[in-house]
Amino acid sequence: MSLDKYRRKRHFDVSPEPRGGARAALARKSRLQFVVQKHRATQLHYDFRLEFRDVLLSWAVPKGPSLDPSVKRLAMQVEDHPLEYGGFEGVIPEGEYGGGTVMVWDRGIWAPEVPDVEKALERGDLKFTLYGKKLRGSWVLVRTRGWGGSPQGKSWLLIKHRDKYASTTDIVADKPRSVVSRRLLAQIARDGGGDAEKAATGDPPKAPASRPGQASRPGTKRREKINVST
Ligand code: MN
Repeated sequence: MSLDKYRRKRHFDVSPEPRGGARAALARKSRLQFVVQKHRATQLHYDFRLEFRDVLLSWAVPKGPSLDPSVKRLAMQVEDHPLEYGGFEGVIPEGEYGGGTVMVWDRGIWAPEVPDVEKALERGDLKFTLYGKKLRGSWVLVRTRGWGGSPQGKSWLLIKHRDKYASTTDIVADKPRSVVSRRLLAQIARDGGGDAEKAATGDPPKAPASRPGQASRPGTKRREKINVST
């Protein structure tokens, strides 16, 4: 099979038709989406979702993913979501289930590193690779037993494997914006008629200098240092 003939007949600089290619073919063959939605509800958390069998398997990760392989992040499995949910960014009205602001924090495709995803889920040990904008490389979800007060087996840990994408960078602090709109939570709330003040508590602090005890931004630190030494 080749696209040569298809391509020879067309001018892709003039026509909006897709050029096609190895990358597209590969993606189509194993195209499973993943999404991480930052959700400022009653508690701030990150909803980690993997497409499997026409739904999004979903875990609520209170602290969000970490790129540091020595850090295990609690991930509470929640109900499967529809595939279209992966594109949802906006405001869930207060009083409704999950009321608050939702951001598409990361999105991409994922590939299992095991031959049988269903068996891996049953076993409670799913290894996979992420191809997102923020999260990449090899990861694992491991079910825990009798920890986190979850006798129903809903409690898992999300852990980064050691590879070239592993890092001690605090990715949730360093990359706080939406990958689809570049907005912060407060902006999404404002645009959607939600509670911007509540949403803002999930965004990075605006004025670290006025909050003693919290780490200040490098710029602020530098300025303070200069003031002291001059
Ligand atoms: Mn949620």
